[in-house]
Amino acid sequence: MAKIPHRLYLTEEQMPKQWYNLRADMKEKPDPMLNPQTFQPTKEEELYPVFCEALAHQEMDNETRFIDIPDEVQEFYKMYRPSPLCRAYNLEKALGTPAKIYYKFEGNNTSGSHKLNSAVAQAYYAKQQGLKHLTTETGAGQWGTALAEACSYFGLDLTVFMVKCSYEQKPFRKAIIETVNGKVVPSPSTTTEAGRKILEAHPDTTGSLGCAISEAVEKAVTTPDCKYVLGSVLNQVLLHQSIIGEESKIAMELLDTYPDVVVGCAGGGSNLGGLIAPFMRDKLTGKANPRIVAVEPASCPSLTRGRYAYDFCDTGAITPLARMYTLGSAFVPSPNHAGGLRYHGMAPILSKLYHDGYMEAVAVEQTKVFEAAVLFAKQETILPAPESAHAIRGAIDEALRCKETGEAKTILFGLTGTGYFDMTAYDAYNSGRMTDHVPSDEELEVGFSQLPKIPGIQE
Ligand SMILES: *Cc1c(COP(=O)(O)O)cnc(C)c1O
Repeated sequence: MAKIPHRLYLTEEQMPKQWYNLRADMKEKPDPMLNPQTFQPTKEEELYPVFCEALAHQEMDNETRFIDIPDEVQEFYKMYRPSPLCRAYNLEKALGTPAKIYYKFEGNNTSGSHKLNSAVAQAYYAKQQGLKHLTTETGAGQWGTALAEACSYFGLDLTVFMVKCSYEQKPFRKAIIETVNGKVVPSPSTTTEAGRKILEAHPDTTGSLGCAISEAVEKAVTTPDCKYVLGSVLNQVLLHQSIIGEESKIAMELLDTYPDVVVGCAGGGSNLGGLIAPFMRDKLTGKANPRIVAVEPASCPSLTRGRYAYDFCDTGAITPLARMYTLGSAFVPSPNHAGGLRYHGMAPILSKLYHDGYMEAVAVEQTKVFEAAVLFAKQETILPAPESAHAIRGAIDEALRCKETGEAKTILFGLTGTGYFDMTAYDAYNSGRMTDHVPSDEELEVGFSQLPKIPGIQE
């Protein structure tokens, strides 16, 4: 066979035309969302005040395996997809590993991440419903940027609540969002009840995704023709992100190969859920048995040290309750540079798969992550986002184990984005000023102690 190219792009004909709904093949489904007042399973209609209807439907749909990607969304995808499947020849050589390392690179659009895949879908359905305005939160800024681009394309207004530490660390993110007409508000803010409450209790807080979500939801339900959209965690977002995995699988088939290990970084779980989707399908249906590894920051270790429990998706406790691996919605992570991984919970789909033993998880410290990022930047000429570098760390560790055992495993990892807005973090690492923060058991206990009590389910 011919030598495998450094970068493989599918042709338009080879592109997937459908998203894949992983839940359809799960024998045991994720536990249902619960209404936070009645503790009864949430009904689709109950989501309508917050979400647009088509997306609420996708959120609740546990049965449909494949869902057509609307033509308009496919057209939009063509502006930046397919994303390349890359072979990390130079990294392999630098590591001296017999492993074959592939990565799917999602950073080739202005948002600099995979987030545009779901942003365009969500903006499309909002437009279809005749909405005028959307609200959301953003951590590191990638989701806010992606959604601002999608909203600008479909002519929708957007308000982005941006986690305060990112707002301060990354002023240029705000500038991009504003360039494409998004409005940015640092969170917690005094513009919402939820923000004012959090500021009263913690005046010095640097913010969290959970808190920004509360503010964005509140603004959506109190503004006419306005809904809230979320960039991760939700079933619908994992559905849209399945494009990453479907493309990867088709590309690997063209190369006549298949991963032994699939590695992804895990914040709320959307890129990981999307990347692994078709490989998990093979696992669930008994066709293949690749290992699936989630890599999370040691500073915000929801899978490796969290509880599998019902919890709020936000800090203000206004969203439905979801059963997931969580550190508690009251947990405020240290200002780790990987802003996009600072979420207290984890996608319910991935939480269930992890709980049932279909997935592994590792937690890595920030300095180790940047060590991997720098090695990768030098070898592969892509400056990775700190979030993505968690997956690089995970893949490198797998490859180094192969070096010890002499196994030539095939490793696939998700390179979710670029790190051009994270140069303060790179600078801190390069000058030796970066530190690691790993929460103590006592610190985690504070979050666990505030998990909601649900009569008969979670006392
Ligand atoms: C948001 C983000 C992540 C983490 O989010 P998931 O929902 O866990 O995928 C990872 N990498 C990048 C570049 C991001 O922007």
